[in-house]
Formats: sequence, structure tokens, C-alpha cells
Amino acid sequence: MNSNDCIFCKIAAGEIPCSKVFEDDSVIAFLDIAPVSVGHTLVVPKGHYEELDRCPSHLLGDLIGCVGRIARAIAGATGAEGYNVLCNTGRAAGQVVDHVHFHVIPRVSGDGVFSHWPAGEYEKGQAEEVLASICEKL
Ligand code: AMP
Ligand code: ZN
Repeated sequence: MNSNDCIFCKIAAGEIPCSKVFEDDSVIAFLDIAPVSVGHTLVVPKGHYEELDRCPSHLLGDLIGCVGRIARAIAGATGAEGYNVLCNTGRAAGQVVDHVHFHVIPRVSGDGVFSHWPAGEYEKGQAEEVLASICEKL
């Protein structure tokens, strides 16, 4: 599967240059052009799937395997103490490129990236309600 207007499909096909970190038969990884931190890398399936939940599970397995391996290499290369792995899905979640990708963002203590984690709490009965609803959909 491939989409003619998709920038990540073009990168995967070698039609647009990238700073390639890794490539195998089904996955390509390259430096993000607008990095949140030095070494910020995108891990992308070569096939065109718009959203994570549309991606076949065997391919997601391959992708996550690559994410772990690449994250370790990035941390080793940059001296990062940790990393975030993100998959923005849908406009509301900040997805801009409609081709599944995982961001691997190296982190050091006090770097100020994602400094606010807006933790909340459930109202009475709300957790039970959403839990039942989610389980029903699975
Ligand atoms: P998202 O908001 O999760 O869809 O993120 C898309 C990411 O793709 C952004 O972080 C962009 O900086 C990155 N990006 C867009 N075009 C390119 C490109 N040609 N090469 C590398 N990264 C890109
Ligand atoms: Zn694509």
C-alpha cells in the first residue's frame, strides 16, 4: 500500500531525501526535520497506514522492535538518560502526517521537554463507566 501524496511514502521510496537512521524490508527510521531534542527520530512502516489502529499487528510488532533498538542506539549516541516514545494519532492528538510513525525523543533530566503532565482524577463512578465501555469494544 502506498499513497502518492504522502511525504513519508515518498521518503520510504527514496523519492525525498532523509537523514536515514535505519532501514529494513518493512521499516524506515530517519531524523525528524524539526527535532524536539538532538537525535529525535521517526520510526515509520514503509506501507501506508494512516493510523496506529489500522496497522496490522505483525507490522506493529516489527515497528516496536525497531523502536526499542533505535532508542537504545540514540541514547548511547547522544548521552540521553531516557527517551519518550510517542505516536500522535488524529488531529486532536497532534498528528500532522497521516502515515503511522513513532517519535523517539531522547531526554536528559531538566531539559524542560514536556515539562507539564496534566494528571487529573476521576469523578465518582467515572472510571467504572469508562472501563466497562472500553472492555465492551474490545
Ligand atoms: P506528527 O505531528 O506526529 O504527525 O509529526 C510529524 C513529524 O514529521 C513532525 O515532527 C515533523 O517535523 C516531521 N517531518 C515532516 N516532514 C519531514 C521530513 N521531510 N523529514 C523528516 N521529518 C519530517
Ligand atoms: Zn504514506
